[in-house]
Amino acid sequence: MSNNQIRNLVTGGAGFLGSHLVDKLMSKGQEVVCIDNFFTGRKRNLEKWFGNPNFELIRHDITEPILVEVDRIWHLACPASPIQYQSNPIKTAKTSFLGTYNMLGLARRVKARMLLASTSEIYGDPEIHPQSEDYRGNVSTIGTRSCYDEGKRIAETLCYDYERMHNTEIRVARIFNTYGPRMLNNDGRVVSNFIVQALKKEPLTIYGDGSQTRSFCYVSDLIDGLYKLMNSNFSKPMNLGNPEEITIKKLSYKIKEKINPNLELKLKDLPEDDPRRRKPDISLAKEIINWSPVIDFDQGLENTINYFKKFEN
Ligand code: NAD
Ligand code: UDP
Repeated sequence: MSNNQIRNLVTGGAGFLGSHLVDKLMSKGQEVVCIDNFFTGRKRNLEKWFGNPNFELIRHDITEPILVEVDRIWHLACPASPIQYQSNPIKTAKTSFLGTYNMLGLARRVKARMLLASTSEIYGDPEIHPQSEDYRGNVSTIGTRSCYDEGKRIAETLCYDYERMHNTEIRVARIFNTYGPRMLNNDGRVVSNFIVQALKKEPLTIYGDGSQTRSFCYVSDLIDGLYKLMNSNFSKPMNLGNPEEITIKKLSYKIKEKINPNLELKLKDLPEDDPRRRKPDISLAKEIINWSPVIDFDQGLENTINYFKKFEN
């Protein structure tokens, strides 16, 4: 290991996005320390790096402080699926606030640059469409999604207060719905739910009438965006996501077609505060970091379906 090698800390590195990010950093020959409490992350996502001298995995809950000498902190730790983050909402709020506070304290102390994995959820149920970074959002403070939405909003606030008070170097990625291999099969998010249901020959569960929209980004595109943002000089929030918008009903048809056209759809109640529409305006990412997604939805879905097929047993 050379002395000028970049040392990274990835919080939530055993999770879906975190483990793909670790792959990218490791493949660039950088050092990676990964912290995870394994709430929704799995060791198997990182297995291939065990024993590599550039890699360390620490079981730790980021609501408690930790001291690690690093140059860059990629702060991803937080459950992202509504089912997971609502299973213990107080813990989710603690992870967002205390976890981010602890990581910013660390960034300040060791003079690391920190990237926060924020979310399109900070826009809530948006009144403008598509959502650009200057939109301030429409978020309930008291609903079942608030632990996550408000948690990420205060996390962003903390970042910019550390920047103003302590000159901490901040990057904030507002990530829109991302999918791909390594989502948990019981994760509850729509793409993994539909694929797992279809492979089990079960009806696909549509919440509400399925007319709500999302815009889905394939994981490799998203990770490229995070990497470029961290390496840029841009310190304001930046949307990262795929602007191709689709209704949930249309998504269910697409997955049926790819796996089993005879499957039924089962309508269920729409969860509280479920955003009606969501689509990122990515002009800023295009202009500043020259980034836009390249993987088309059909290709991304096929990769994801193949992953779940392998993983079925
Ligand atoms: P994930 O649930 O797969 O990963 C989260 C990881 O954080 C898991 O490994 C989990 O065990 C770990 N973790 C949770 N609480 C922790 C704690 N207190 N201490 C230590 N580790 C903890 O979710 P993901 O999809 O990989 O999301 C990663 C980050 O990206 C999250 O911050 C999420 O809010 C953000 N994000 C993701 C999406 C998306 O579509 N995937 C969209 C917007 C934002
Ligand atoms: N959804 C659905 N069926 C499912 C899971 C989710 O219809 O089995 C809907 C959900 O109500 C929402 C959309 O799909 O409108 C995306 O949900 P997800 O939990 O993936 O992400 P988020 O709501 O956080 O964008």
